[in-house]
Amino acid sequence: MPNRHSELKEFHWLMNMIQTIDVGLVVLDGDYRIQVWNGFMANHSGKAPHDVIGENLFTAFDTIPETWFRHKAESVFLLKNRAFTTWEQRPYLFRFKNYRPITGTAEYMYQNITLIPLVSADGKVNHIGIIIYDVTDMAVGKTQLEKANDELESLSRTDRLTGLNNRGYWEECLIAEFKRVHRTKAPCTLVLFDIDHFKKVNDTYGHQAGDEVIRITAKLLTECKRATDIAGRYGGEEFAVILIDTLPEGAMVFAERLRKQVENHTVTHDGKDIRFTISLGLAQCGEDIRDHQHWIECSDQALYKAKQSGRNRSIVYSAAGAEEN
Ligand code: GH3
Ligand code: MG
Ligand code: MG
Repeated sequence: MPNRHSELKEFHWLMNMIQTIDVGLVVLDGDYRIQVWNGFMANHSGKAPHDVIGENLFTAFDTIPETWFRHKAESVFLLKNRAFTTWEQRPYLFRFKNYRPITGTAEYMYQNITLIPLVSADGKVNHIGIIIYDVTDMAVGKTQLEKANDELESLSRTDRLTGLNNRGYWEECLIAEFKRVHRTKAPCTLVLFDIDHFKKVNDTYGHQAGDEVIRITAKLLTECKRATDIAGRYGGEEFAVILIDTLPEGAMVFAERLRKQVENHTVTHDGKDIRFTISLGLAQCGEDIRDHQHWIECSDQALYKAKQSGRNRSIVYSAAGAEEN
């Protein structure tokens, strides 16, 4: 009898631990009826054991995706293997509100889930256990770290004054685009442009006014281009745009639209109205273009021609000689 007594005591202790452990424990039978519901589950769901025991899991918790869960659980019943799901695959199985004071930014408790086969004395698996780990702290930490990394990465790619891609990142994009165009033979035109007589803007209105002119030029550029086109600040008052899937004729329409927008725009700084113009050079990435650097040189040659022939104009590069619009 002393043995029986200590067994009972042990059972009692075990039940106590199951009830108070800071992990969710649920047992389901083959019909997905809840058989065990520990304290963790009761506290977080607001449903006491007598509310849910004997209930079908999917009826009691209709936010659980039934097909997905059955598929997962079936393999545990049949193959007697464990199954896992992490919060990264699926944020939670049971939709519990997150009450943590520190990690209160998360709306719901993130959960890692383990399903275990519960083997009966006859060797059959008629029940499975679900273990639910609250991993909200870890998930929020990781999500915030990823967000901070994304922001840092975006900052390192961005020009502070204009918000455009900076030269380094823009050139990386150009290299990638050059490779893509060489492989696919898709049309792609590079536009380089430079503000005309910019030194005069600085000299007449001051450096801050010059900065404002650069900022507004970037804004007009962003408004004129398509979302898929890749714009960057190439230098002080030099800009570059990769026009994806665009032939020089189409690029010329874009260039002229932007040129006229700039020409017709007035920047007001310190109560003074500033008017300015830009010159643009266009080059398509054809068979003759050796690498991205060569592509830039061709656009730059066309830009140089635009400057030489009077400024405030767009010119397309051609090996024989640049064509003015
Ligand atoms: P052009 O028509 O031939 O282009 O004449 P330009 O006067 O514009 O000549 P250039 O393109 O060589 O001018 C570059 C000037 O831009 C020189 C520099 O003082 C000024 N600059 C470069 N970066 C900045 C900047 O970030 N802010 C301001 N305000 N000025 C800058
Ligand atoms: Mg310049
Ligand atoms: Mg200039």
